[in-house]
Amino acid sequence: MINKAIYVDNNATTPIAPEVYQEMIPYLTQYYGNPSSIHTFGGQLASKIDEARQKVADLLGALATEIVFTSCGTESDNAAILGILSSNPSKKHIITTKVEHPAILNLCQHLEKNGYDVTYLSVDRSGALSLDELQKSMRPDTAIVSVMYANNETGVIFPIEQIGRIVKSRGSMFHVDAVQAVGKIPIDLSKSSIDLLSLSGHKLHAPKGVGVLYIRRGTMIRPFIIGGHQERGRRAGTENIASICALGKAAELAHKNIADENNIVRKMRDRLEKGLLERIPYTFVNGDTINRLPNTTNISFEYIEGESILLLLDQHGICASSGSACTSGSLQPSHVLRSMGVPFTAAHGSVRFSLSRYNNDSEIDKILEVMPAIISKLRAISPYTPKAK
Ligand code: PLP
Repeated sequence: MINKAIYVDNNATTPIAPEVYQEMIPYLTQYYGNPSSIHTFGGQLASKIDEARQKVADLLGALATEIVFTSCGTESDNAAILGILSSNPSKKHIITTKVEHPAILNLCQHLEKNGYDVTYLSVDRSGALSLDELQKSMRPDTAIVSVMYANNETGVIFPIEQIGRIVKSRGSMFHVDAVQAVGKIPIDLSKSSIDLLSLSGHKLHAPKGVGVLYIRRGTMIRPFIIGGHQERGRRAGTENIASICALGKAAELAHKNIADENNIVRKMRDRLEKGLLERIPYTFVNGDTINRLPNTTNISFEYIEGESILLLLDQHGICASSGSACTSGSLQPSHVLRSMGVPFTAAHGSVRFSLSRYNNDSEIDKILEVMPAIISKLRAISPYTPKAK
């Protein structure tokens, strides 16, 4: 097992914060009861779940009763869309975007095979949506519009409130996959038109295996997982108490520190990005650099493959990621970059660096030190590199 890494892949998952880990331990060792039990040993845990619920609500500007704990972001996304569809059986149209996470895209493709009609909104070269296209796509039978708050690959932030105003003026439900946004940028649901919002613990320094679906008060939605009465009948299954309390702690930390941390992380991200662009030719940033998460940069290094860059970075103990996915033995550039119209040779050579408060300046220095040699080495052997370059 490799331990010490320069970890700049925080949009994939984050390290558990030490305070969050400490919060979990008693529930894994001492307090193993079932919160639904009549006896005090188990029953006392119900109030701990509610404390965590309040902390998540405070981070989001929501009511505690609007917070439903789930197992992950994917479950929250599925629960939102399937729950709304099953409450509105006469409405068969869904709107989403071409750049969503597979948790939404693959679900929508599955629904298309089962009698639903899905509109996939396009994005431009900067990753921005056309509000005009959204307006034109809205129909009387549009049950739900689901868009992401911020893109996991590029960090590009959608204009959620403008989108929400259009959706609500046409009487549809509005779901936002905020898995990448929560804990990284402030979100205030008390002033929002969002009906449903998904988040995932492991993206904000809580453990994997816990998420939240925010359901605005008064929203008619059928439960996705049916069974016991947990989560007021909205999500059955004995509660993952240790992870729920951990998520509560992570939300509390994010709420307290979001502004300061954003500044620190943004400075490191900007220095890394600027340094790479200055040191390496034929390199550019993918997506809007203004409306963007403070921790993410997605950079294309032309003429080479992102996967090869990752392998060489890995030899230096640096963990990043690329949008390419290996399908049927051939490397496919990311669906996000292709939807943005990034040319093939550049989309292939994209690398995402996603930072967190646990990175530091010397790690940025190390990446800046090793990257130019990695890129030169790969370009020297790439058949795509133009001869003169
Ligand atoms: N939505 C987005 C935008 C994501 O980035 C991810 C995970 O990367 C998910 C949903 C899925 O979350 P989880 O891993 O908790 O299922």
